[in-house]
Amino acid sequence: MDLSTLPGLGPKRLKALNASGLRSVSDLLYNIPRTWLDRTRLNKLSESHVGENVILIGKITRAGFIPGRTSRYMAVLDDGTGQVSLVFFRGARHWAKTISVGTRWCVIGKLGNYRGLQLVHPEMQRMGDDEDFSGGIEPVYTITEEEHSAKIEQKFFRTLYPKVFAMPNLSVPDAPPAELTEFMGLKPVLQNLKSLHMPKTFAEAMQAKLQLKKLELLPFCLRMNVRRRSLAFRGQARTLNDSAIADAKASLPFTLTAGQSKAVDQICEGLRGKKQFHALLQGDVGSGKTVVAMLAMLAVAKGGEQCALMAPTDILARQHYKSLKPFFDKAGIRTALLLGACSATEKKTISGELQMGMTQVVIGTHALFSKDVLFQNLTFVVIDEQHRFGVNQREALLKKGHFPDLLVMSATPIPRSLAMTLYGDLTPIVLNEKPAGRKPVKTRLVDPTKRDDMKKFLLKEVKTGNRLYWVVSRVEIDDEGGAKSVDEVAEELSSFTSEWKVGAIHGQMDEEERDRILNEFASGKIQVLVATTVIEVGVNVPEANLMVIDAPERFGLAQLHQLRGRVGRGNQDAWCFLIVPQTSPAHERLSRFASTDNGFEIAEMDMQDRGAGNLEGSEQSGAWVFRWFDWIQDKELIQRILDTAEEILDNKPGFSPEVQEKIQKWYALMPQGNADGVH
Ligand code: ADP
Ligand code: MG
Repeated sequence: MDLSTLPGLGPKRLKALNASGLRSVSDLLYNIPRTWLDRTRLNKLSESHVGENVILIGKITRAGFIPGRTSRYMAVLDDGTGQVSLVFFRGARHWAKTISVGTRWCVIGKLGNYRGLQLVHPEMQRMGDDEDFSGGIEPVYTITEEEHSAKIEQKFFRTLYPKVFAMPNLSVPDAPPAELTEFMGLKPVLQNLKSLHMPKTFAEAMQAKLQLKKLELLPFCLRMNVRRRSLAFRGQARTLNDSAIADAKASLPFTLTAGQSKAVDQICEGLRGKKQFHALLQGDVGSGKTVVAMLAMLAVAKGGEQCALMAPTDILARQHYKSLKPFFDKAGIRTALLLGACSATEKKTISGELQMGMTQVVIGTHALFSKDVLFQNLTFVVIDEQHRFGVNQREALLKKGHFPDLLVMSATPIPRSLAMTLYGDLTPIVLNEKPAGRKPVKTRLVDPTKRDDMKKFLLKEVKTGNRLYWVVSRVEIDDEGGAKSVDEVAEELSSFTSEWKVGAIHGQMDEEERDRILNEFASGKIQVLVATTVIEVGVNVPEANLMVIDAPERFGLAQLHQLRGRVGRGNQDAWCFLIVPQTSPAHERLSRFASTDNGFEIAEMDMQDRGAGNLEGSEQSGAWVFRWFDWIQDKELIQRILDTAEEILDNKPGFSPEVQEKIQKWYALMPQGNADGVH
């Protein structure tokens, strides 16, 4: 239903509403109040504090028009316990006519302090001399610029909603089946929405919000449970080649940490089981996840089965191929590298060999999803930096095998509440220690005026054999005069001194060229690498222990942590410099980041700052931003709704097959979160 069906809406207001994203009646229903004013409690000035929302009733004791650069109208209200100034910048003339000394008002607003208590543009309600305070609860809406210029204010919405809810045949799209809400002890969605727009008490509005949160979370929990339940019984246990693991361990240039050994054991145990095994290996950047995955793959491949290792970028896939191939070779296992950049003939050959079982391990990127890639006996899929992939992509790869096992690896430490819902279908395995000898990266905030001093320090370090990543947020030149581009910085650093060689890479570059430069950096032929976030995931050059991040405020903290993880991969001292002016609003947030090396803490901070949707390191994954549910405030709801989902899938309520089908259709329709991937 579009809005023109509503009575009393002129074309100007209609246009303003449309421009603000309110096009249909259902848009209006979901135009949720920003907050609610509880007018049921009257405040006393003597007991109120600056920053509080207050409702006061009192008489005007002084009032006057104050001419100046911006003319203001000011009045003083006395509520019998104290005095507060009321200040009006907008519509001063109008207020000058209505607010006169001796009149009685109910005023609502946030108590400020400027030469005494004051309320700027409070809501004003005229009261008769003997009129009693008749409280109520009122929703407060966000008013957009467009709405404001079409004279749409709070009052407009407050009178609009009774009309909306009086419409015959009003319904909400995608409402859950009534049987379901009833089972959960919830009111119908429409009724809850009404309680948000026209509540009688504050508690009613809060209750409605809670109910809507539960309903919003349910489809996610249902899908998670369905996925977990779909893990199949293989029927027979798998025998792993333990001696392949022992041999490979012996030829590693280091000994595994206790955490790594335990992770390998846990994974192998899962792989041996009769049931399909899906696990999440979580470990901070640099904790050494790759070798864990490699050992498990070795054990599977040595038994004649096939494994696929999937990485989000070409750089990373090539790096894995290069570092793992020698171990596979030694064990007599054939390995292939499959990238989007491979020629059609190459792809055909690789795919043919996989299909015939001549190759046991394939390492690749998204190219592995391709329909043409077929396997003879794919039984183990490993996905690195899994947050870069969607659930659907993951599933596409799994389909190529016969109920294969799955290991997804993530360096994004996820708070437990979140992990339970996002990855509730995966067995958690945590690597919580880094290889011995690693020191925390020394992270410092550098004022832009110290840029040259910093460069001098960096040069001194580079001369002793160190290498430097310089991260910028942009590829092109920024017209807005903000952050510098890759080329600008590369130019700046080259002209700073000829004592270091500078290379630059970014995502829009030819891949061969990019790999060539990265290799030159890895081998030390160039010592300074100016780069965009293409280096964020996985890139491993242990000799590079210096990093500068230009315009760090443009990144989320979790992403900065990933970037910082590129250094400190050896046993040397490692530095990370964040260039940010002392005056930047991001300064405080970045200092908190600089003060900790703990990925979980940083993930928590990031979640507080930017919401869970951004946590996974990608702006595009905002699909996880819920309308009602809040990952931080409402985390205790998760377990309850997971339990509800279990009950529904077990059909504890005894729904008829028709109702079950309706429910299934409903949750399949609801937003998919990051299921479609973030690319
Ligand atoms: P991530 O967990 O971030 O993927 P990697 O697997 O890339 O980390 O490992 C980071 C670096 O640590 C690599 O150079 C790797 O060879 C090295 N490494 C892994 N395990 C150990 C260990 N037990 N002792 C020393 N170095 C290790
Ligand atoms: Mg890694």
